[in-house]
Amino acid sequence: MPRGVIPRQPAKTGRHEGARALQTRKPPPKSAGLRPVRPALLGSAQGKLRPGLKKAGKTSASRYNPLAPERVAEILKRLDQLYPDVTCALTHRNAWELLVATILSAQSTDVNVNRVTPELFRKYPTVQDFAALTPEQLEPDIRSTGFFRNKSKSVVGAAKKIVSDFGGEVPDEMDKLLTLPGVARKTANVVLGTWFQKADGVVVDTHVTRIARRLELTKNTDPAKIEQDLMQVIPGEKWILFAHQIIWHGRKLCMARQPKCAECLLQNICHAADKTWSTVEIHKEANP
Ligand code: SF4
Repeated sequence: MPRGVIPRQPAKTGRHEGARALQTRKPPPKSAGLRPVRPALLGSAQGKLRPGLKKAGKTSASRYNPLAPERVAEILKRLDQLYPDVTCALTHRNAWELLVATILSAQSTDVNVNRVTPELFRKYPTVQDFAALTPEQLEPDIRSTGFFRNKSKSVVGAAKKIVSDFGGEVPDEMDKLLTLPGVARKTANVVLGTWFQKADGVVVDTHVTRIARRLELTKNTDPAKIEQDLMQVIPGEKWILFAHQIIWHGRKLCMARQPKCAECLLQNICHAADKTWSTVEIHKEANP
């Protein structure tokens, strides 16, 4: 399908915290024949292009393969430049604390969870302390993370099972982790990758879902299918770091609304439909 050229106006938002690698970077290079212009000069999005702008032809569109190994390698290289040394932002001191923090992070922010967990783990220092609780007893301590009733059931249920079935130790195998209440592949991948340094899969959260679709690394919306797609194209030794990098990218630049494309090192290899700045073709299928 032919793809239209819809360069967009650069975001007028200011520099974002944390994007230190980008602070001194020059604006993205303008590829030949494709110059970012104001939408008003483009006419409508139905193809009234400003004279001089090239519309994507059938030939270039049909040749484009977003999963080409060299493109994927370039994405990974630029993520390494942007986020060379990132890891999980959830505060934790052991596998159990990371498991609890990950369960609490559902539908919440890491900052919010990190506000709650220090006092929580001071009050209940061990997995046995949690196993001795009822969900109702835990609810007031985690209320501010949202969905606290379900989360209380998951945390207390996981603690009881870890104590009864795994000798009080968080298991380091996917199959066993998935037997814990409230633990699905995302949580299991976080614990395995971040604490045990085991790459059994790729963490797929809302950031990874959105950005993998923008970068055309998947067309799926189901996290399990997205994970399988990413495992096909990302080398296994990069699974852990890739997920951390994408999650940081989603927080710092590639947010759900108004991504900071003018500051993004991936800009000229990203064809996302909702870019706020582009020097390359927009692919309407690449929507978050
Ligand atoms: S160019 Fe924009 S949409 Fe694409 S990855 Fe960067 S911030 Fe996200």
